[in-house]
Amino acid sequence: MIKSAYIHIPFCEHICHYCDFNKVFLKGQPVNEYLQAMDEEMKLSLAAYPATKLETIFVGGGTPTSLNEKQLSQLCESITRRLPADGQVEFTFEANPGDLSKEKLAIMKQAGVNRLSLGVQTFNDELLKSIGRVHRASDVFRTVEHAKAAGFENISIDLIYSLPGQTLTDLKETLQQAYTLDISHYSGYSLIIEPKTVFYNLMRKGKLPTPGEDIEAAMYELVMEEMDRHGFVQYEISNFAKPGFESKHNLTYWNNEEYFGFGAGAHSYIDGWRRSNSGPLKKYMEHIANGVLPVFEEHHVSRAEKMEEEMFLGLRKNEGVSVMKFIEKFQEDPLKLYENQLNDLIEKGWINVSENAMKLTKKGRLLGNEVFQSFLGVSND
Ligand code: SF4
Repeated sequence: MIKSAYIHIPFCEHICHYCDFNKVFLKGQPVNEYLQAMDEEMKLSLAAYPATKLETIFVGGGTPTSLNEKQLSQLCESITRRLPADGQVEFTFEANPGDLSKEKLAIMKQAGVNRLSLGVQTFNDELLKSIGRVHRASDVFRTVEHAKAAGFENISIDLIYSLPGQTLTDLKETLQQAYTLDISHYSGYSLIIEPKTVFYNLMRKGKLPTPGEDIEAAMYELVMEEMDRHGFVQYEISNFAKPGFESKHNLTYWNNEEYFGFGAGAHSYIDGWRRSNSGPLKKYMEHIANGVLPVFEEHHVSRAEKMEEEMFLGLRKNEGVSVMKFIEKFQEDPLKLYENQLNDLIEKGWINVSENAMKLTKKGRLLGNEVFQSFLGVSND
């Protein structure tokens, strides 16, 4: 039974220099019509794939908090009316610091939102400017203070390291500031330069002073050490939490479980099918106006692919892939199926294997993708 839903709000008031997410510039967009269409999509989808009770709802973007108060109320009302959930649900909103007025916080709280995920990236104002963010460090402190005053106890922030011009000392300072917020969860990602971004063009012209691989690896080690020192348990390659505050929603993905995805360009995984919705707003809304689900692409996941996914998604978690769960799901022993690959990875010092679980080592975490690739194409079922 599906336990999770992702809802996509593709609007942003500014476009950041590194961003390749599925988003559009807010000004002039048919936001009200989009919210209406998404309401309809939830209705159509839940009629086709009934769910009894969701355990996680995640509203991401884009920037969900770029909606005005009326639109935010409309969205919250839609979600609570259409999606089956109770007080136990982990209900997350992504937000940009500076976007969260007291009124917006009250609307979310009233609707049952109980987790906020803020796109902070760094506390260095110069770096924030240079990556095209419009908020400043002071906005983060104010936003977190207001969120706490509004009753939000489960707050996460995203940080990005290996930014152009960033030094290890900068990152250390950012982490020091981050811990003063007294919150329960941090995500720390290294910057990836994606095609079609401002940064990509600068990089091609040789004008992007990224710190380089060695500093990047040192930054990741610093993040892991500092998180550990401050009592945050690393539970995934890039995620750290106080015990009990791990993101249940993201664990759905890493546990290779199914989920709904609503909105333009959103992805879903239902009854063994991975689907993506049409991305352009007009196309997305046309489908809905015609009374059909706005599916752009779909792919039935074969048993072999499911096993691969179980490995490379599960290995992202620090607890690794459970051997028992793998056998329960696929009636196949992964220690036998992947014997050669595992032996090779053990020899390289990238993976640890016990009879209960397969886990990345610290070195393996630094090389994630290289390890994951080992499991592709092993089974042909
Ligand atoms: S606010 Fe987020 S989604 Fe929007 S452009 Fe910046 S990084 Fe991308």
